[in-house]
Formats: sequence, C-alpha cells, structure tokens
Amino acid sequence: MVGIPVRVCINGYGTIGKRIADALVKTGDFKVVGVSKYSFDYSALIARKKGFRVFVPRDRIDEFRKHGFEPDGTIEDMIDEAELIYDASPGKQGVKNKEFYVKHGKPAIFQGGEPPMVGEVSYNTLCNYNAALGKKYVRVVSCNTTGILRILCSLGVKPRSVFATIVRRASDPREDTRGPVASILLDSQRIPSHHASDVNTVVGDIPITTASVVVPTTLMHVQVLRIDLSGEKTMDDLLSSMEKSGRILFLNPESMGLDTTGKLVELARDAGRYRYDLYENIVFSSTLKLDRDVLMLIQAIHQESIVIPENIDAAYAVLNLEIDPFKVVEKTNRALGIGLVKDLITGVK
Ligand code: NAD
Repeated sequence: MVGIPVRVCINGYGTIGKRIADALVKTGDFKVVGVSKYSFDYSALIARKKGFRVFVPRDRIDEFRKHGFEPDGTIEDMIDEAELIYDASPGKQGVKNKEFYVKHGKPAIFQGGEPPMVGEVSYNTLCNYNAALGKKYVRVVSCNTTGILRILCSLGVKPRSVFATIVRRASDPREDTRGPVASILLDSQRIPSHHASDVNTVVGDIPITTASVVVPTTLMHVQVLRIDLSGEKTMDDLLSSMEKSGRILFLNPESMGLDTTGKLVELARDAGRYRYDLYENIVFSSTLKLDRDVLMLIQAIHQESIVIPENIDAAYAVLNLEIDPFKVVEKTNRALGIGLVKDLITGVK
C-alpha cells in the first residue's frame, strides 16, 4: 500500500492533463511530482509558476533550452519518481505510452481517446468503482460517455433501453483550426455512433443507441436522452436518486435564465469556477419528462472538465485507498468545490 501523499505524475499537460494536475493538488492526498511537456509554449511557464516540475523527452531538451527554459529532467526521470501515472496524451498515444509504463512496472490511468483495451477496465465511478479496485490500468471514458453513464447509473433502476442524441461541440476553445466552421457535421455516418459501444464498455448489459452530430461551438456538448425504464418509478424517486449521485446539477432554464451553453459558462465564471469548469452534468430541469416509464431529459456537458472528478476518484480505486465509492465521490467533490454552484443559486429569492 502506498503512503499519503501518493506521488503521481501527469504525462501530457494539455486540456485534460492540466486540470487533473490542479485537481490532484486540491485533494491533499496526492503530490504531483511532475508534468510532461512535448513542445515549448506558455503552459510550461505556468506549470512551473504553479510549482509543478516540468519534464520533457530527452531529445527535446535543447528545444526547451533555446527558449531559456531548463527542464527538470526527462520523461523517464518523471516516471521513475511516480507511484501512479496519469496519461493525458493525445488520443491513441496513451496505448503506445503504456509499453513504457509496463516496462517501469507503474500503474496508470488513461483517457477516453484510447481504445478500451488499454485498460483492464473502462471506468465511471457511479457505475463500476469496485471493478477498478486494485487494477493497474484503468481507462476513464470520454466526456459524452461520462455524461450519459452518470445518468444511467444514478437512476436507481436498470434501464430497459436508451436512446441518446448527442450534439457535440466542434473543438475546445484553443483548437481554432478544427471545424466544422459553419455547418453541422455528422459525427458518425451511422447509427449508433461510437458512444453507444463506449457506454457498453462500462455497463455491458444496457441496450443503448446513440446518434451524434457536431456543431460549430466550443462551449459544451448537449445531449437529449430517452431512457426506457424497467418498472414503475415516480419522478420524485428518480430525481432524488440522481441528486444523491453528487455529480448532477439540475438547473431550471426558465426561472434561472439559463437556456444556452453560453449562459452556463457565464454562470461558471460568476460562481468563480477556475477556467469556467463545470464538473457536473447540467440537467435542464424543465425538460425532465416521465411518460409512463420513459424518462426524457436534455443535459449539457462541459467537455473539458466533466471527466476530472472521475479521474481523481479512479486513483483512490487503483491504489486501494478507499473501497466505498460514495466516500470517494464526497472527497473529490469537496476538493473540487462540487456543490458550491448549487449552494450559490438555490434557496435565494
Ligand atoms: P490535448 O491535445 O489538449 O493535450 C495532450 C497533451 O499531450 C499535449 O500537451 C501534447 O503536447 C502532449 N503529448 C504529445 N505527445 C505526447 C506523448 N507521446 N505522450 C504524452 N503526452 C504527449 O488533448 P486533451 O484534449 O487533453 O485530450 C487528452 C485525452 O483526453 C484524449 O484521450 C482525449 O480523447 C481525452 N479527453 C479529452 C476531452 C476534451 O474535451 N478535450 C474530454 C474528455 C477526454
């Protein structure tokens, strides 16, 4: 068993990696021994200002030096020091990096852009925390899949079938060369899109179909879910069950004036969320509809931050630090301030 704080490193300090690093520090249970950069840019300077040591590939040390930046060592040095590795490299690179982690005998947490076989288990805390206990290689599924799974696994009843329509953001804000620029693109030219099989990597026994299109925005995904429930449930049962998950925020677009993803981003800023991160599924509460035993809802998912809580939870499972998923959710939520946005806007008239 490792001691607290656990020494971790982040291989790939991009959109997801930098958020994982900041979140780990907030828990107090982990010490970030280093982050890796593969080419020099401003984020190497910010990482260092934050107190993170910056490691680079051996053959790129000179490139960093040319910019007046002396790296703290090589990627290998960083891996040697860590007891757990977060791989947040570009999609499909992690599976190549894995060979390196295996060689060093280190456990690793991978991201959703990797093929499922990179991990012994594909993971979502609310669905299969226990399956990740003590595993060496875990894959945290991607943003849309995480958004869908949180709902399915917090209903308190196993769905008979699910249909999800996904309206994807085209890119993250800094990826300004990606499209589409002015039209709507079929994310997948077939139904189901890959999200359905990805959901099934975590919960294999829920029949699900997904259809996905890409729209020209950087501000969040929107999903329309239609969930055929097995057995009678009241809306009150379903709501209280989903609320207990600790990862779903219900906002009324009508009374709160929050009917666009742009306004949700503004809410995150007003609430003081760093980088306007929204870690919660944002369910537009007025869209919740229960028609006999079919539940329908529309939710928004902040692609850049939604997977961060699950990444932190996963470390507690991999390292066997906690066996109770509810305690882990509570711990991670406290560290990330999940719940504070709700406190800010509820109970005030
Ligand atoms: P990113 O491009 O923002 O960051 C990747 C970082 O890895 C970059 O800083 C890059 O320089 C670095 N890198 C380059 N080569 C590397 C290597 N060989 N080893 C390690 N790092 C290397 O990518 P991202 O958006 O943070 O995505 C990372 C992973 O997270 C992907 O699997 C992606 O599918 C997944 N993910 C992304 C989002 C999102 O919205 N951005 C959401 C959920 C999951």
